[in-house]
Amino acid sequence: MSAGASTAGSLWFPAYVALGSNLDRPAIQLERAFAALDSLPQCRLLARSRLYKTQPLGPQDQPEFINAAAGLLTTLTARELLVELKRLEGELGRAQPVVRWGPRLIDLDLLMHADTQISESDLTVPHPGLPERNFVLYPLRDIAPELLVPGHGRVSQLAARVGGTGLALLTGAPGGQ
Ligand code: ADP
Ligand code: MG
Repeated sequence: MSAGASTAGSLWFPAYVALGSNLDRPAIQLERAFAALDSLPQCRLLARSRLYKTQPLGPQDQPEFINAAAGLLTTLTARELLVELKRLEGELGRAQPVVRWGPRLIDLDLLMHADTQISESDLTVPHPGLPERNFVLYPLRDIAPELLVPGHGRVSQLAARVGGTGLALLTGAPGGQ
């Protein structure tokens, strides 16, 4: 039975989550999200990346994003973890998006879950944007450069391939954004 199909139990799976925000002091939103991830049931936050300022995908008439990545251990399946991430987005104050790739208070995407591979209408794991999005790959490289993305290669190689155009490290205190 694959990790994705098993029910929650005593096995701990590594999982990686992408965090993004471009509203209401985004760096603070990400701090709240990291803390919320650590307090999820059956989850432990083990690693957090630096914060990156990034140009928005899609509509350009919106504030720049702050992106980061988190490394977790969890006994949840990928689908159970997605449910928790969606619940957290709601708790952290995210309204339903009006525009695809439009502004959002918090976006939590499941990037990888152990060796789970899922391709369903509401859940794709590994996340399909992972191999090509620098604002996902750069933060992920901070915490998991050797992570192998099935069918694509290592995170460090993928990050080098896409390059850092439009990305800048966020320096200074989180209150600054
Ligand atoms: P996006 O993150 O693409 O900007 P949303 O956060 O609104 O947009 O997500 C849209 C839908 O994507 C979610 O309702 C969710 O069911 C689906 N989805 C599919 N795969 C994933 C994944 N790996 N992580 C998070 N959401 C996913
Ligand atoms: Mg999302």
